[in-house]
This record gives sequence, C-alpha cells and structure tokens, in this order.
Amino acid sequence: MFPLLSTVESFHSITVDLEDWYHVCGVKLPSGIEAGGRVVEATGNILALLRRHNICATFFVLGSVAAQYPELLYKIADNGHEIASHGWSHRLVTELSHDEFMEELERTASVIEGQTGCKPVGFRAPRWSLSRLNTPWAFKILAESGYLYDSSLTPLPAIGEPNGPRYPHIIETEAVNIWEVPPIVTKTPFINLPTGGGWGFRFFPLSIIQATIRRYADRGQPAVIFVHPRELDPEGPRLNLGVFQGFATYGSRTSSEDRLQRLFSEFRFKPLGEIVKTWQPAS
Ligand SMILES: [Zn+2]
Repeated sequence: MFPLLSTVESFHSITVDLEDWYHVCGVKLPSGIEAGGRVVEATGNILALLRRHNICATFFVLGSVAAQYPELLYKIADNGHEIASHGWSHRLVTELSHDEFMEELERTASVIEGQTGCKPVGFRAPRWSLSRLNTPWAFKILAESGYLYDSSLTPLPAIGEPNGPRYPHIIETEAVNIWEVPPIVTKTPFINLPTGGGWGFRFFPLSIIQATIRRYADRGQPAVIFVHPRELDPEGPRLNLGVFQGFATYGSRTSSEDRLQRLFSEFRFKPLGEIVKTWQPAS
C-alpha cells in the first residue's frame, strides 16, 4: 500500500516550525507585537540543545521571520540544519487563493535562498492546513515549484487529513508528484493521538511516544517530531488564550526539552530533506 522505503538504518527527524511566540493560528494579534519578538533567543535554546547532542534537524522557516532577523538563518544553516519553508505570513492555506499561496512560497524561498544560498525543498503548512480534501490544488503548485516533499498532512481528527496515511507516501498531481511525510501519530482503536509534537508530545506518557517511534522504525519509516521555539522558552511571554487553546499552546511547556533529550539518547536523527533524497523520486 505504501511505497517501500529501503532503510537499512533507521533515521528519524526533528523538525522545528520556526516562528515567533505570538504566531498562534486563529488568534488576532495586537498591532506592533512583532517588536517584542523572542524567536532569536528561543531558537538559540534549540540550537544549543541540538549541538550538545550532535543532531541536525529541519527548520520550517516562516519567511516574514527570516526577513525580520536576517542573521537567524545563517546561524541555523551554519550549524548544519536544513532550511525548509513554513510559508510567509502564517495564514492558513485554506484562506489563500492560488496566487496568494504561490506568492507566499516565492517570497519565502527567495529570502531563504538569499540568506543561505540554497532553495528550500520541503514545505509545512501553518496549522496543518493542507489536505487533498480542502486544498488539492496546492500540491501541484508545490511540486511545480521544485519542492520534493511536504510535511503537513497529519492524520488527526480535527486538523490535517483525518483519514490520511500515517506513513510517507507519494501525492500525485497532474504535473510532477511530491512526497508527503506526515509527523507521527499513535494509532489507537478509536482515533490517532497527536504524539508527534505540540501538546500531545508534552502530555502523553513518553513511553507511548518511544513505542510509536520504534513501530515506525520496525516498518523502515522515519518518525517525524515537531517542536516550536516557544516550547523551549519557558520564561517567554504568553498570549491570553482560552482554556483549551492555552493548554494546547503552552501546557506542560517545560517538558519538551527533557523529552527531546530522552529521544536523542535512544534514536538517531537527520534532516528530513536528507532522508527524502535517499528515496525513489516522487515522479
Ligand atoms: Zn506554524
């Protein structure tokens, strides 16, 4: 059912959605909030953690943040990490027209290329707002723009692509095809649990996350974990969100670093783009 990935050694991937503390989807921000950004400090915490464990990750970068802090991408790339695209404005893909989506991709790619000398080959949509159901047109644009993979289709009940595959697969478009590499979820008889990042990564017992990664490895599949800089910045500012969204965004925030360190000692990781480039071409 899934394209066979010939993985002799199992490598997994840590991915960072590089955005500032106030980039929370669906929240109207007060004007001027950009001036109080903490992304440089928070990213410094992640870079130090990865360096201590000699791990290279993938950073899905928001173009507007890269433009605001021109030294940031240079620092990340200089540490050997992959720079991929998280769009420009953090608007959901479902809210964008075809032209607007293309413009978001182009602006971000141009900033990334200008600052690092490399074009991004990976994309992740804000809040998993890409799916074959709601935005089927977007995959063609991504593939035609030179992207090798997307990592947005998390198969969860309320976001992403609820009934989509849990493992990497090829998405066919009318033109060139593209690999889809969803973040991990933990399958249960009822629903998939969001153990790959965010509140689920901080909330569910670590043993469940470790067992899930081992299951992916047993199938020769990469386990993709995601984290945000604000999750490694426990003293950082917080938006005044409702109870549920507040918990989803900030709850148990201090445990992300401990959990990542435990995973670093058990599993091996490399940038997602490096893993995808070892697979058969999608087209
Ligand atoms: Zn985001």
